[in-house]
Amino acid sequence: VIIGGGLGGLFCAMTLRDAEVDVVVVDRANHYLYQALIYQVATAELDAGEVSMPIRERLGRQKNTYVVMAEVTCVDTELKQVRLSDDRALDYDFLVIATGLEVNYFGHDEWQPFAPTLKTLRDAVDLRERILSSFEHAEALRDPSCCPELTTFVLVGAGPTGVELAGALAEMVRDTLPREFKRFDPTTTRIILAEAGDRVLPSFSPEISAKVLAKLRKMGVEVRLNSPVDLIDAKGAVVAGERIASDNVIWTAGVRATPTGEAAGLEIDAMGRVVVGPDLTAPGHPDIYAIGDVAHIDREGGSLPAVAQVAVQTAKYVGHSIIDRVESKPAQPPFSYYDKGYLATVGRNYAVLETANGRVKLAGYLAKMIWAFIHLLYQMPNQDKTTMFVTWTWSYVTHRLGSRVIIGRKSRP
Ligand SMILES: Cc1cc2nc3c(=O)[nH]c(=O)nc-3n(C[C@H](O)[C@H](O)[C@H](O)COP(=O)(O)OP(=O)(O)OC[C@H]3O[C@@H](n4cnc5c(N)ncnc54)[C@H](O)[C@@H]3O)c2cc1C
Repeated sequence: VIIGGGLGGLFCAMTLRDAEVDVVVVDRANHYLYQALIYQVATAELDAGEVSMPIRERLGRQKNTYVVMAEVTCVDTELKQVRLSDDRALDYDFLVIATGLEVNYFGHDEWQPFAPTLKTLRDAVDLRERILSSFEHAEALRDPSCCPELTTFVLVGAGPTGVELAGALAEMVRDTLPREFKRFDPTTTRIILAEAGDRVLPSFSPEISAKVLAKLRKMGVEVRLNSPVDLIDAKGAVVAGERIASDNVIWTAGVRATPTGEAAGLEIDAMGRVVVGPDLTAPGHPDIYAIGDVAHIDREGGSLPAVAQVAVQTAKYVGHSIIDRVESKPAQPPFSYYDKGYLATVGRNYAVLETANGRVKLAGYLAKMIWAFIHLLYQMPNQDKTTMFVTWTWSYVTHRLGSRVIIGRKSRP
């Protein structure tokens, strides 16, 4: 049984495709989501269907695999059983936990209603509607300057999600929208990126962080470093003691592990991740593996990061381990991670790239081309990328955005 049909779960099931095993993939959603590009759904560059794919479509034709849409509520490690939200139970011989992360408001869950986040497809579509509606409301005012909170965006957290979202928003208000609004001037939109630490993109080197900071500021993003958020409420946010009126506070900061490991009574770390050994099994539970974001995998000086490459590599390793065990072959050597480095993008023409050893550092257009190539051809598991390629090219050439429909939100009184 594989819990989670995200990047790790999907790759693990695909690795087991030809093995003499029955695979059950359980996910509470019916789709796999390519999270690295959901900020493009929120900023209307891509449509929801272009960054997601029904799990059943990807695995349904795999003869040994059965897909179940349900939430896993508990794991009984004694009975070797997984319990589902619809009261069903699944027996397992091997269990792979691949349930990823969830949003963490750092002990301030009361901020959640006022600061939506970007983690699921629902989040992205809701955020898109919220952003677009704000501009519509501003245009409807006789004097749009009377309500600056409508078009003041406060993004909390300058990791990859905050930075990429800020860049895309800045481009939207400067490039795409000005031609279409008559009363409201989209270029007056304020985008504030608040970061408690002293630099943006802390997973990159200080040199790359400095370049991205300069780029964001050039694009008109107000980046505030060393500025923790003290409060978020219906009126906006208090950032480093300053009250900022905003209808659009967006949480791009903390994450923690989904509680599956805890529910199974396994050893977890401070983030709730399942602690695993070198063979990626939970200590004392040789039949339970954890992979991807939900796994705490030691490496010198800490643990492996929550990135796609870790999910893919751990998934393949565990798939092969299970095959070897079923076929009574010798055990695999301990898992070792091959770090390919990091990529992030800011707007249509700029990205940064850094290899793990820090020898290659790129910032600018070439890095953007590599970013697009990797996301398009490499990381989406076997999905049809034609429509995404056409949408990107079209919006790159015309400076128009792909999917700007508002379908769910009511007008503001
Ligand atoms: C906004 C954003 C941007 C990102 N950008 C990048 C990037 O540019 N580059 C990069 O390398 N990485 C990026 N990442 C990280 C990358 O997406 C993750 O590392 C990767 O998806 C981890 O895969 P996973 O299988 O561990 O978890 P996920 O892909 O998150 O899959 C977890 C699955 O488990 C399911 N699930 C959870 N709980 C339950 C339950 N109780 N019952 C049933 N199903 C459950 C979920 O529905 C989900 O489908 C980004 C992440 C986010 C959120």
